[in-house]
Amino acid sequence: GESGLGKTTFMNTLFNTPLKEEIHPKNPQSTQTVEISPVHYELVEDGVTLNLTVVDTPGFGDQLNREHNLDPIVEYIDNQFEAYHAAERSSEFRRAIPDTRIHALLYFIAPTGHALKELDIKALQVLSAKINVIPVIAKADTLTHEEKSAFKKTILRDIEANAIRIFPTAYPDDRESVEELEKYIPFTVIGSDQFVDVDGKKVRGRSYRWGVVEVENEQHCDFIHLRELLMTHALHDLLETSHTVHYHNYRAQKLRSSGRPESILACDDSYEHRIERSKQNMAEEMIKKEEEMRQNFVLKVREKEASLREREEQVVYCKFFSANK
Ligand code: GDP
Repeated sequence: GESGLGKTTFMNTLFNTPLKEEIHPKNPQSTQTVEISPVHYELVEDGVTLNLTVVDTPGFGDQLNREHNLDPIVEYIDNQFEAYHAAERSSEFRRAIPDTRIHALLYFIAPTGHALKELDIKALQVLSAKINVIPVIAKADTLTHEEKSAFKKTILRDIEANAIRIFPTAYPDDRESVEELEKYIPFTVIGSDQFVDVDGKKVRGRSYRWGVVEVENEQHCDFIHLRELLMTHALHDLLETSHTVHYHNYRAQKLRSSGRPESILACDDSYEHRIERSKQNMAEEMIKKEEEMRQNFVLKVREKEASLREREEQVVYCKFFSANK
């Protein structure tokens, strides 16, 4: 999403850590181009370690020629697919492929209350054709209840009208575990780096002169539902869809562009694996055939030798016989 929508603040809020400086190294020139800044984290919760890479895209939407803002993002996504594809083909990495592919993209929509902007539609179309895209409405504290539900409807209408495939609704096979959460899409979120006092308890929120908006209060926004979707329900589905739908599409497209036959592309297994396997089979077959031929040859030579020996003996016998006569 565009700069200033609260993406960095939201990530801090989601992981309950001050990731700000690390995640978002502010660069005075950053408005010129879109930067891609991947940062790796190891989150430990209940003894389970989650290796997570957060990739921020500061500068998106800042340039005048906004269409080109997507290029570095798309290039980054493709590069990760390509790295995975290369590893998949290498005998060294095939067993434990380092996976840097993007499994989920949170797209931040400005809380305008109006129809989606051209840039958002274009970005959502391009990105959702490549990876799992979950749209979120930023800074939900700036919208009233009525505005929020009307805005959600408008966004869903635009998403449908522009054939944008969002996660998880567009992937019916993966829906079972997330059905309950679907009704919140697109999720409204509030981000905050602050803890505020509510009834004697410190909670994440934003404090205004007129009161407090709480991040984890479902009356205020859908933050807890989005967190539930990302961290529990859909974690597995995100990875699964990412691999079986998006990565396979990428691979098929790549192979198609190099003129590989459709029948092979339709197959779930990688084309390279099949070629490699059939090469191996052919090599084994060749060795077997060679061995058979060698044995046949040895047999034939032995037979020939035996028949020659026999003839020789007959000749010797004939000579001996005529000499004795
Ligand atoms: P980014 O450029 O998208 O990463 O945006 P930042 O996280 O840097 O936030 C930009 C500004 O918006 C900061 O002043 C934040 O304090 C503010 N902000 C972040 N989240 C929210 C929110 O949910 N509501 C409101 N009202 N302001 C927010």
